[in-house]
Amino acid sequence: MHTTQSEKQDTPINRVIENFSPELAAQLRQVYIHIMSGKELRGWNPKWNIQFRPENKIFLYYRGNALVLTIYKKSNAFNVCSTNNTLKEKAPEIFQSSLVKEATDKRIGIAMEELFKLLIQENWLEIMEKVIDDNYKKQNKESQRGEEEREDQEKEVEQRLAAKLEGRSDFFVIDTEIRISGQVQKDDMLALQRAQDGTYNFVPIELKLSSDAGTERKRGGNKRNAVGQACEFCKTVKKNIDKFKESYKIIYNHKCDLGIFNGTSEIEILSDVMNPIVLVIGESNDAVQKLEKHAKDKTWNKDGEKGCEGCEAKNVCVVTVRCCSETDFINHPLGRE
Ligand SMILES: [Zn+2]
Repeated sequence: MHTTQSEKQDTPINRVIENFSPELAAQLRQVYIHIMSGKELRGWNPKWNIQFRPENKIFLYYRGNALVLTIYKKSNAFNVCSTNNTLKEKAPEIFQSSLVKEATDKRIGIAMEELFKLLIQENWLEIMEKVIDDNYKKQNKESQRGEEEREDQEKEVEQRLAAKLEGRSDFFVIDTEIRISGQVQKDDMLALQRAQDGTYNFVPIELKLSSDAGTERKRGGNKRNAVGQACEFCKTVKKNIDKFKESYKIIYNHKCDLGIFNGTSEIEILSDVMNPIVLVIGESNDAVQKLEKHAKDKTWNKDGEKGCEGCEAKNVCVVTVRCCSETDFINHPLGRE
């Protein structure tokens, strides 16, 4: 079937850093080691998480917000900005640093070799943490939570789960906040699950906090609940499977170079089986039970054939709803006891 999207020349996912040089890897590795230095401690609560983004961007996530590093294609330099737009107002010291090459209201240009010095020695990460923490305190005082704050909270859980699963080889998150070119909405998390023979499958994950399990998001003109979103996500991955495999193999290697993943050899990702999950974090409630029922009822019968219209799986919808605590998910991501 031909659609305008598949005819487009651009890559459906473009998250590969074009000039991922050994120098860049070395700089980022230092930063990563620093931000994860509490990893071995008991009660480790990772605050930061690194993800690669389209257009040569690296996002350093903190509580759902991000410090964005954009690599200039030709020079060894970064453009730094924040998804929190109050950077200059709240952290003027960053803009006044003698190591900053150029600065506008929201962005700062720095040399790549200064990255560690700026982020760690000049405490930029700590300054960013404070700006974001203050924002959260302000939000908590305001009685009504808007949709944006809810999404930030969801992203915070996403980043924390991704960070906590780093270092595992049976199940880990390869990416979060996935946006396919030509699509408006973002998908929450994409994990890789290892089979017995050592190969991997993609696992699309739609994340919800149980308090928000009943919310619906607009997808392609229609409102979809979390099960519908997971079905669509699964369908997107299937439709673009070759691009996904190609891009995420490279991203896996980048992350191994940074020490985020422990892999030593090429990863083999299969095209077929996928078990998309709606992951609800928290206690079960009416909305969660409704989702569970919806996942089971999504099967349709047409012309003697059975399947799911959403994920286009044969026989039954392949989405499962899992409701548990963050700790339970970290300990048993595959649902085994
Ligand atoms: Zn389905």
